[in-house]
Amino acid sequence: MMSYHPCMDQPEYLLCINCETPCYTFEWVDLQVKEAVCTVCGADDPDDFITEEDFEAMTSAG
Ligand SMILES: [Zn+2]
Repeated sequence: MMSYHPCMDQPEYLLCINCETPCYTFEWVDLQVKEAVCTVCGADDPDDFITEEDFEAMTSAG
């Protein structure tokens, strides 16, 4: 962990990694996704959702 942002609370939205759709309805607990459902592709596994920050890190890495 290179940096920690104590002010970074719940993100405004999450991104579904399957279809890259912003998801505004989710549960955010203890700095991670607890529950989320993608209304587009139906993904409901918390592992299928990431924050915009993580998404950008992921897409710019490769
Ligand atoms: Zn989706």
